[in-house]
Amino acid sequence: MATIMCDRFRPQMATVRPHVMAMPERLPGRTGVVVNEEYGLREEDVLAKVIESISDKGGKDIDIAGAEIIVSGGRGLMGKENFAMLHELAAELGGVVGASRSAVDAGWMPHSRQVGQTGKTVRPKIYIACGISGAIQHLVGMQDSDVVIAINRDPEAPIFQVATYGIVGDVFEIVPALTKRVRTMKEQRGGRLPDRLAV
Ligand SMILES: Cc1cc2nc3c(=O)[nH]c(=O)nc-3n(C[C@H](O)[C@H](O)[C@H](O)COP(=O)(O)OP(=O)(O)OC[C@H]3O[C@@H](n4cnc5c(N)ncnc54)[C@H](O)[C@@H]3O)c2cc1C
Repeated sequence: MATIMCDRFRPQMATVRPHVMAMPERLPGRTGVVVNEEYGLREEDVLAKVIESISDKGGKDIDIAGAEIIVSGGRGLMGKENFAMLHELAAELGGVVGASRSAVDAGWMPHSRQVGQTGKTVRPKIYIACGISGAIQHLVGMQDSDVVIAINRDPEAPIFQVATYGIVGDVFEIVPALTKRVRTMKEQRGGRLPDRLAV
């Protein structure tokens, strides 16, 4: 990783992580001019070589950055086995399971599921934070989600400052209750989720 200052010279350069900015609306019929420049670089002049490209989207693990619904768990889950209830809720919602760094460091979830500064930046339609305090390093990775639902037994937890809906309570009661409610709603609608989730 490098910090490159190019304030006085050209060309200038900037990089952004995926999902940091909102996708603009598609404009059908929009056109542009493609300018093909002559570029006389030979391959042997390039010192860096691409040996292999590994896509985040491929393989057996899921790319949480592309998910529309994320159910994330933190240290409040108390153990690896308790992530099963998050997988259940995520499966009902058609989402995926994410995690805080504490949960990843504890070995409860793989690093590929970590949300935050040293994990993935996500921007799903719904982000459900379960037993996550809301440290700044976590918030920078999820605070631009369309809807944030936070479940925490501590009413002072910082996660509530970015939450659209806050539920003060025990994850071990709230999460199974949410899963049950979503299941009932789907049963009443022939297996489909309502357009607006009344959670
Ligand atoms: C350089 C650096 C980079 C970092 N990068 C990241 C990153 O990418 N992502 C990240 O997440 N963190 C990152 N961190 C760590 C971050 O500072 C926090 O330590 C971490 O996010 C805390 O994780 P947590 O919220 O799961 O745990 P905690 O802060 O311990 O919070 C647990 C929460 O669970 C609640 N809780 C406990 N039991 C229950 C229950 N039964 N029901 C409901 N709520 C309950 C508690 O009230 C508490 O709020 C980074 C830190 C540093 C220094």
